[in-house]
Amino acid sequence: VRILAIETSCDETAAAVVENGRRVLSNTLFTQIAIHAEYGGVVPEIASRNHLEKLPYIVDQALREAGCTFGEIDALAVTQGPGLVGALLNGVSYAKALAFSLDKPLIAVNHMEGHISANYITYPELEPPFLCLVVSGGHTNIVKVEDYGRYVPLGATRDDAAGEAFDKVARILGLPYPGGPHLQKLAEQGDPDAYHFPKSFRGEHHLDFSFSGLKTAVINLVHRMEQRGESFNPADVAASFQKTVVRTLMENTFEAARREHIKRIALAGGVSANAALREEAARGGFALYLPKLCYCTDNAAMIGSAAYYRMLQSPAAQLSLNADPSLPLL
Ligand code: ATP
Ligand code: MG
Ligand code: FE
Repeated sequence: VRILAIETSCDETAAAVVENGRRVLSNTLFTQIAIHAEYGGVVPEIASRNHLEKLPYIVDQALREAGCTFGEIDALAVTQGPGLVGALLNGVSYAKALAFSLDKPLIAVNHMEGHISANYITYPELEPPFLCLVVSGGHTNIVKVEDYGRYVPLGATRDDAAGEAFDKVARILGLPYPGGPHLQKLAEQGDPDAYHFPKSFRGEHHLDFSFSGLKTAVINLVHRMEQRGESFNPADVAASFQKTVVRTLMENTFEAARREHIKRIALAGGVSANAALREEAARGGFALYLPKLCYCTDNAAMIGSAAYYRMLQSPAAQLSLNADPSLPLL
């Protein structure tokens, strides 16, 4: 089964052709990062307009790179949500129009299920059950993947997502948007033990996260040092912050795996590209699954993978399909 997948939930215009949920024939992407960097974050209306403009070319390129025609596609897939509503609507409308004119089934995909499915592409032999830490710009979840399409929530953030915390701290340190990758680079030159930041919820029974306190602690520290005219090394702040986030994320994930007696842990989402997180994850003594870097941040290949398993389980979407900016995974 060959699926042409479209992803437009945020600021990447993406299309891919994926075979049987595992084999990526093409994975095409236009990133709007440079466009939004000027504003220090994603401007929804600008994102929508760019999706509209770039989609035809990106879809065309995905087919060309896969070496196939519209006629050789078995189904279309599109991200229904969660994400920016205007951005999502572009992909949903485009996919609906294609499905209608080609008379092929359309599969609606949850963006977070897509992130998790990035692991199926990277590890063709990986099958549920496993535990997944989903860490992205808008989400931080520990999820038990019981089966394809069957997820049990074990922990989630009560406030900021991990990626959001990375981006906000990066901004305070004067790094460009999106801050995560820049902060990682800066942290590599710093001392992770230079500053001590408190971890939230220590000793509590639940497996939830909170990152807003940590973010505020970093912001206050930087402001205090600036006001006093103290010289400080931003790389030390970055490294200390990163260490705290990464430890917090993995402590809860390891604890969840122990409680659930799960031996396999997968990471997913943009923050799973972080090198320090990947290193920390390897210390737990569990079998570890790390998506290839190009499948960590938003892409359409992961949507094509998730769509395949959805297609096996549920009927195709109707042409009345609408974008859902807060579509839940669970
Ligand atoms: P969501 O998937 O929750 O809807 P999103 O699609 O915007 O949000 P992703 O594309 O999965 O998020 O990931 C983007 C986030 O990942 C940004 O916050 C970015 O800073 C972060 N990120 C990317 N690479 C790294 C890295 N190397 N280290 C830390 N954070 C990173
Ligand atoms: Mg993005
Ligand atoms: Fe995402």
